[in-house]
Amino acid sequence: MKIAFIGLGNMGGGMAANLVQAGHTVRAFDLSEVALGQAKQAGCETFPTAKEAVQGAEAVVSMLPNGGIVKRVFSDDVIGHAPADAILLDCSTIDVATAREVTNTAATHGYEMVDAPVSGGIAAAQGGTLTFMVGGTESAFKRAEPILSAMGKAVIHAGDAGAGQAAKICNNMLLAIHMIGTAEAFTMAQKLGLDPQTFYDISSVSSGQNWSMTSYCPLPGVGPQSPADNGYEGGFAAALMLKDLKLAMEAAHTADAKTPLGAHARALYEDFSEENATKDFSAIINSL
Ligand code: NAD
Repeated sequence: MKIAFIGLGNMGGGMAANLVQAGHTVRAFDLSEVALGQAKQAGCETFPTAKEAVQGAEAVVSMLPNGGIVKRVFSDDVIGHAPADAILLDCSTIDVATAREVTNTAATHGYEMVDAPVSGGIAAAQGGTLTFMVGGTESAFKRAEPILSAMGKAVIHAGDAGAGQAAKICNNMLLAIHMIGTAEAFTMAQKLGLDPQTFYDISSVSSGQNWSMTSYCPLPGVGPQSPADNGYEGGFAAALMLKDLKLAMEAAHTADAKTPLGAHARALYEDFSEENATKDFSAIINSL
């Protein structure tokens, strides 16, 4: 298939490479020359503008920093420039309202579109093991699924337009809350004289067990290998967690949902990110 790919950064670079590996022709565009050079090395065809990349494409995939950019790129460079029977897939993490707006605009020009944000970081993007949460019609989902499957291990239809983004921010709000809770529990256990490994052995088979503890432990040397064992480098940057929490709080406000712990998590990550934006989000344990 001829697939245009816009946004070849930390995530998009690996995703585009996996589409090439799956046998697709990838027509790549990014504002960054460095990203374009890496895409070329991975086997993509590169183009000087997004408009040229989407010409003749059967699908357009984007992986961009935020909703404002997604809206601009689709309005200016994709809609009306890609063939009207191309399927459009935005994999960026953006706000639900913008995701719905861009899908609706695309639909008025005859395009089918899905919002398909991902769970999993840079390693999963490179390894083709992302989880995609997809919002869109049944028909759009059916067309998007085989393309997404080439870049991930799970592709789940969450509901209509925007539902993928809704699932993503609810999931990441919960992740922030249980990471902070896990960090608090380990810190308090130590202050009460418990050995961290002993607390892990007990809590990981008791009712406190959760993903932040048993898959991504914020304490070095405890549980499976995690960014804590690598000086909190790599992994999921605190700044990206803060971005997702801001999107979650905006959505909670719009939907009139009460999220007191989500709001508190956002405030804690806001403080933490001031000096630790690039550290893995589990490093918040060091601020307790
Ligand atoms: P990144 O900053 O590494 O990459 C974004 C790329 O988009 C850059 O290469 C940039 O040059 C390009 N870009 C910006 N504006 C553009 C435009 N107008 N036209 C073409 N290219 C443009 O970011 P990333 O880490 O790859 O994240 C991308 C998206 O994935 C974000 O929405 C992020 O929230 C989401 N995400 C990231 C992670 C992660 O661990 N990094 C995990 C899950 C989801």
